[in-house]
Amino acid sequence: MAKTHVFRNDLNKEYPVVEKGEGVYLYDKEGKRYLDGAGGMVVVGIGHGVKEIAQAMEKQAEEVAFTSRLRFSSAPAEELAEKLCGATRGEFEKVYYATSGSEATEISVKLARKYHIDNGEPSRFKVISRWGSYHGATTGALSWSGHVQRRRDYIPYLHDSTHIAPAYCYRCWFGQEPKSCNLECAEALEHEILYQGPENISAFIAEPIVGSTLAVVAPRENYFQKIREICDRYGVLLILDEVMTGFGRTGRFFAYEHFNMIPDIIAIGKGLTSGYFPMAGVMTTLKVWETIAQKSGSFVSGHTYSATPLGCAVGNKTFDYLIEHNLIERSAKMGKILLNALETLKQHPTVGDVRGKGLMVGIEFVKDKETKETIDKKIAFSSQISKEATKRGLLVSAGVGCADGQNGDSIHLGPPFIITEEQINDLVNILDNAIFEVESKLNSK
Ligand code: PLP
Repeated sequence: MAKTHVFRNDLNKEYPVVEKGEGVYLYDKEGKRYLDGAGGMVVVGIGHGVKEIAQAMEKQAEEVAFTSRLRFSSAPAEELAEKLCGATRGEFEKVYYATSGSEATEISVKLARKYHIDNGEPSRFKVISRWGSYHGATTGALSWSGHVQRRRDYIPYLHDSTHIAPAYCYRCWFGQEPKSCNLECAEALEHEILYQGPENISAFIAEPIVGSTLAVVAPRENYFQKIREICDRYGVLLILDEVMTGFGRTGRFFAYEHFNMIPDIIAIGKGLTSGYFPMAGVMTTLKVWETIAQKSGSFVSGHTYSATPLGCAVGNKTFDYLIEHNLIERSAKMGKILLNALETLKQHPTVGDVRGKGLMVGIEFVKDKETKETIDKKIAFSSQISKEATKRGLLVSAGVGCADGQNGDSIHLGPPFIITEEQINDLVNILDNAIFEVESKLNSK
């Protein structure tokens, strides 16, 4: 292995060195081309190597890159917040800037608590979240994440937080069928609130469409309407984590728009700058902001690099690019094409489910389609698929644990919205070959 001083996630793996990104492709130092089916980490919506973003970045860096947000606002920060709130048709009123999705979900939770304190209910502090979810890697965000594999080693540092069942129809925890269920997974929230004591509950946090943990799972129709009703009944704030789903990824500007209800707070990140700058944020409704503005008048939770003029300038240009090139509509359209094409992979004996919304798509692998029995974890099936796909020039994200926290292989995809039909065909062909290769190896053992 070549010597390196970089401490990576996988300490014993050799990583190719990336040199260039262009459109949906990445190129390494050896000149090998990769179709970025993963969009980095479901981040890159507008594509790699967009010159306009680089130019906007250069211009802003020359004017002013950094100022303390405690002393100054900036034109890019003002402009971006106006655009983001405008994109929600005024449903959200203010933006609190951050630098990562983990930070954004933590700020969301702190903001909910601050709202309750200023609203005269200081006993409310508990957060309810769901198993099979991910809200970030810092200890607060990991506490309310329900990603067993990522939590496991750090449980001693995590806060006491409670998790309810996910809205996971393929493996319903309540043994129901989507057409005839009573949304027991949403009712679980009411039970949890009552058992914990409504006077103690600050917020419920969930991804509108679960990303990496469950390989893209959207809830059944009306799930979030019922969640909204329950939150309102008990004075609990609803936080939706749009870090992965925002900025057109699911074919709407924000994924909450699919569900006919408005959350109180949303955490945003990833697509906000499409990977061109580390930026994230928290958006809040007028109700939350006004309560704090009229009482304590202060909410302190920033980090040094929040709201930099440079980051906001990149956010502005990314926003304009999305809108000017109709990329949100394109994500919806190409997402349907991708999902249809991936359906053909169901002829593989291991492809149990193919699902998605817009250009956020997942595949769950099983040993037996009838019983949905999972593949032996020791085989590391999804990692092998990812490895075989990479060999053939396609990047996908692999996951394990979707079925029960421990077992269940999956991959998820989030290519840039500029992907063409031809590139989708390439993607599906490579994936088809990769799955065939791993299945053949398995059968020959
Ligand atoms: N929330 C969701 C839904 C995510 O997918 C992620 C990252 O993948 C995060 C939060 C954390 O974001 P970050 O890695 O930028 O801290």
